[in-house]
Amino acid sequence: MKPVKILVTEKIDEAGLELLRREAQVDVCLGLTPAQLLEVIPEYDALLVRSATKVTAEVLAAGTRLKVVGRAGVGYDNIDVDAATQRGIVVVNARGASSIAVAEHTMALMLALARHIPQAYTSLRRGEWRRGDFVGVELRDKTLGLIGLGRIGAEVAKRAIAFEMRVLAYDPFVSTEHARRLGVTLVSLDELLAQADFVSLHTPLTKDTRRLINAAALARMKPGARLINTARGELVDSQALLEALERGHLAGAALDVFDVEPPPLGPLILHDRVIAVPHLGASTEEAQVAVAIEVAGHVLAALRGEPTPGAVNLPYVLPEAMQTLRPYMRLAEALGRFQSQLRHERLESIELVYHGEIAEHDTTPLTAAALMGLLDEISEERVNLVNATVVARRFGLRVEERRSSSPQGNFTNLVEMTVRADSQSYTVAGTVWQGEPRIVRIDEYWVNFEPSGNLLITRHRDRPGLIGRVGTILGNADVNISEMQVGRRVRRGEALMILRVDEEIPPEAEREIRAIPDIWSVQQVKLP
Ligand code: NAD
Repeated sequence: MKPVKILVTEKIDEAGLELLRREAQVDVCLGLTPAQLLEVIPEYDALLVRSATKVTAEVLAAGTRLKVVGRAGVGYDNIDVDAATQRGIVVVNARGASSIAVAEHTMALMLALARHIPQAYTSLRRGEWRRGDFVGVELRDKTLGLIGLGRIGAEVAKRAIAFEMRVLAYDPFVSTEHARRLGVTLVSLDELLAQADFVSLHTPLTKDTRRLINAAALARMKPGARLINTARGELVDSQALLEALERGHLAGAALDVFDVEPPPLGPLILHDRVIAVPHLGASTEEAQVAVAIEVAGHVLAALRGEPTPGAVNLPYVLPEAMQTLRPYMRLAEALGRFQSQLRHERLESIELVYHGEIAEHDTTPLTAAALMGLLDEISEERVNLVNATVVARRFGLRVEERRSSSPQGNFTNLVEMTVRADSQSYTVAGTVWQGEPRIVRIDEYWVNFEPSGNLLITRHRDRPGLIGRVGTILGNADVNISEMQVGRRVRRGEALMILRVDEEIPPEAEREIRAIPDIWSVQQVKLP
């Protein structure tokens, strides 16, 4: 087998490279031209970049071995993520590693705003001694309004509480309980703007957050309030901010990020009450090391085919939730593989139904895992969690997902996968028992077996002697049966039998079993 090879095209801290070298050959080639990158990329399984390397659709197409592209940092606009998704290439970044650096930077900017540190410093260097002009305010007993209570927002909250501030947050996606544990009160955007003495931005840039702080929002801010932006420049309408400062409605603003970087030296940056720094949020020695270690971990996990919370083209799952979901992902994949081996023809649609506690989680990764299992054996393409949904769409398959938090029967959690093919429905359902996947239902038959190894499934009439004949045929073929299960609806009616066998069943023996009267179907399933 060829060794796993990783290409690193930008400077990454040694701590991360060392981790990668434990599992792969790592080639650090700084300053490659786009043409050189295209030339060497076919040799590599992974590519690790910062923000300068342009990972275009062309590079991804040339990278026929590529499984993962890592971005040592947060933003990934230099990577064509859609093209990567189409090709089943995982894109990972390092999201959490710089949270403390950005949170501390936010506090530094808040204190600098409150005490006019940069203005006082430049004045002193001009030979002035204007103590009366730089009277500040204290943070204690002030209200901080956090827009976005994610990783960075939460760290800012903890620090602000230590400064005895009252912390409000507007974040439609976090729970009241999470906020309460942080000592933060969740409020509406309007309430936050009306009450906060300091407003600090910590949301990603999305269509909802672009220019969230526009003229109307600024007008709703408390007179004399201060704004801090360490998130993304496009969250703020700079012209409206300049006007609010000039009118004296806002007492100050601190900006780490800008629409265009580096920004033109205009009236906003030169404004007396603006503190502007060149995107230094994540620029600490510690964050650079942590980013390298985090991204290296995600790259290695993706190379091993493990789901990683660092992937940007996989649904994001919190690490705690991933712990619960991981065995169900194995179950969902097994259901998909099982269904695909039943060799349905003319697939029309797939329905996944999640019952019980797992239905309270985001089940998108489970659906992706089930589709991966189903399509991996059907499609020529490399199908993985990244592109399973895209491939299903290309196959013209309708994929539906339903969730019901009430348990089903005796099962706390149950995943049902129904495949409609040729106008018929086939259902396989499973659960996780002691951390391991079990299939517990095939169509209307309740069973209970581990989805692994060689299985023989027959549908037949329940009558004396039939199972014995199957056993004899297998015995004569030197095939050992290690487990047997029978499900039936009524005595002497339709029945289903599952045999786990140690050896693969030779075609001749399978033909003999098929020929037994009252056996309607015989299927062999081979699972990893
Ligand atoms: P995160 O994903 O952990 O948190 C973002 C939070 O924003 C989430 O809780 C989400 O629910 C919330 N959110 C999303 N849409 C929202 C909306 N419309 N209104 C209110 N809240 C909304 O992200 P993070 O790691 O905390 O990063 C926050 C920001 O900081 C991002 O914009 C990121 O790019 C930026 N950042 C800047 C630097 C820097 O150098 N200045 C470094 C790292 C991250």
